[in-house]
Amino acid sequence: MNILSIKSNYDGQDGGFVTALTTYCLKEGILDAVVVVGANNWKPYPFIATKPEDILKASKSKYSISPNNKLLEYATENYDNVGLVGVPCQILGGNKFDLKMKIGLFCTKNFPYDAIKNIVDGLGIPIDRVEKMDIKKGKFIVKTSEIENLIKKKEMVKEIPIKEIEKFANPACRLCCDFSAEYADISVGSVGSEDGWNTVIIRNNNCKKIIDEMHEKGLVEIKLDVDVNAIQKLENIKKRNQEINKCSAYYAVCPYIF
Ligand SMILES: Cc1cc2nc3c(=O)[nH]c(=O)nc-3n(C[C@H](O)[C@H](O)[C@H](O)COP(=O)(O)OP(=O)(O)OC[C@H]3O[C@@H](n4cnc5c(N)ncnc54)[C@H](O)[C@@H]3O)c2cc1C
Ligand code: SF4
Repeated sequence: MNILSIKSNYDGQDGGFVTALTTYCLKEGILDAVVVVGANNWKPYPFIATKPEDILKASKSKYSISPNNKLLEYATENYDNVGLVGVPCQILGGNKFDLKMKIGLFCTKNFPYDAIKNIVDGLGIPIDRVEKMDIKKGKFIVKTSEIENLIKKKEMVKEIPIKEIEKFANPACRLCCDFSAEYADISVGSVGSEDGWNTVIIRNNNCKKIIDEMHEKGLVEIKLDVDVNAIQKLENIKKRNQEINKCSAYYAVCPYIF
């Protein structure tokens, strides 16, 4: 296992590495199709990208559940080399299919779309004006911008502590044990790297070879200094759920706290 900090030229959620990797794999014929996530007013929908230009429609994180795995049966029946980008629970489900590459995203929690919309409304921002959402350093952050004097764009950032909104998260996320998508071929997040970079965990030689090629062609910058302890800390928090999951009595006695 190899852990790196990587940045691309794409304007993605963090270092744009997922956009760069999936674009490269489609261009080079390593993949014929990739299941990714687009959005309408930040309501996610999955789609099968078959051309490099399709991938740009999937950039940036949507903090709501997207039914990606519903497309895997169709994708694997119709394409030879299929990739999946997904949060850890989707990557785990992806194991049931014959996928060429599973690209996992780090994940602490996810929300039903209506909950995200209510949270954003509560911050006084219409959802269709949001340019980016992020979960970082214990905060849910929403970025938007305003046109001033017809041309000048003033960036506005509003944030709310995660503690105040975690009760709205998808209930299954409270029992989830996988932060870094352990069953992926390659896992990507932001924790452990500086702002604007991705932390990338390379879990097999095939992915290592592809990243070496991208680096040689000048498509990505690579740094070795990753704060592995920061990743480990979040892994450990999620692993504690393994013990809770073993005890079915919890569900019987207090179903509502889960
Ligand atoms: C719900 C969620 C929670 C996350 N939590 C954390 C966290 O706690 N810590 C951390 O370090 N990183 C977290 N991440 C990962 C992080 O937000 C970035 O996705 C990751 O760093 C890749 O960045 P990028 O610049 O390469 O992405 P980009 O190049 O912008 O590519 C984004 C990719 O994410 C996919 N995607 C977008 N939304 C979803 C979705 N809802 N479900 C599945 N796939 C999606 C798109 O298909 C696209 O391929 C989370 C991501 C999601 C979706
Ligand atoms: S926290 Fe776990 S269950 Fe929830 S979306 Fe992320 S990977 Fe899936």
